[in-house]
Amino acid sequence: MCRHPLVVDSTSLDSESVVGDECHIISNAKGGPRHDARFPSFEIDELSNLMLLCRVHHKLVDDQDETYTVDLLRSIKENHEKWVENKLKEETEIPAVKIIRMRSEMPTQLSVIQSGKELLNLAIGCHGLYSDYCDDLDDEETALVGCFIQNLSDWADLGDWLEPIECIRAAKFLNDEIRRLKERGFMVFVAKEKQRIVGGISGPSTWWALHLSVKRDSDTDIVSAGNESC
Ligand SMILES: [Zn+2]
Repeated sequence: MCRHPLVVDSTSLDSESVVGDECHIISNAKGGPRHDARFPSFEIDELSNLMLLCRVHHKLVDDQDETYTVDLLRSIKENHEKWVENKLKEETEIPAVKIIRMRSEMPTQLSVIQSGKELLNLAIGCHGLYSDYCDDLDDEETALVGCFIQNLSDWADLGDWLEPIECIRAAKFLNDEIRRLKERGFMVFVAKEKQRIVGGISGPSTWWALHLSVKRDSDTDIVSAGNESC
C-alpha cells in the first residue's frame, strides 16, 4: 500500500529479514477483521488470503475493517501484483551491455615486463584480456605459457577482492613464472587499453583491458621492448 520495502537484504553475517507482516484478508478469528464464517478454514493461510504489509498498514487495515473491506484489499493486492509485473517487465528491457573500443586508445606497442609486482599492478582492475603467444610451442612450453596466462587472468579477475597478503603472494608467484619463462627464452609484454562499457542498468563507464604477449626473445617482432605504452 505504501510500497515500503518489506524484505531487507542479507549481509555477509546474516540472512535476509522479512520486516513486513503477513496480513489475513479474511480473519479466522470470530470477531476478527473481515471474519466470514462461510469462508473455508483450509483457505485461511493460502496465499490468496494473505497480503504482506508494513506494520503501520497491517494495523490500519485490521483496525478499520469497515473501510478496508475484503473487496478493497483484494483489489489493492491485484493492483500491486500488476505493478510488480510491469516493473519486472521494464527491468528485462535493460539495454544489452556493449564494450566499445576506441582506435586512439588501442596500444600500438607493448612494454616488456620484468617483475610480477609490476605485472599484477597493471592487471588488477582490467576486466578484459587479449593474450598472444608464439604458435610453435612444444608441449612443455604450452604448459608453461598456458599456465602463466591462466593464472594472470585469474588474479586479474579477483582484482580488488584480493587481500594485501594475497597480492604479495600473487606477485611473487608471477615473478617466479616470469623468471621461468625468461630461462626458457621468453619475454612478457603488456599494455592496458581503455575501453567504454555501455548499456546495462548503470550509465556508461570506463572498462580496462589488458594486452598480454609472451614471445621468444629471438622473435623479430620485438623492436621496442621497454618503451612506455600504458
Ligand atoms: Zn505500509
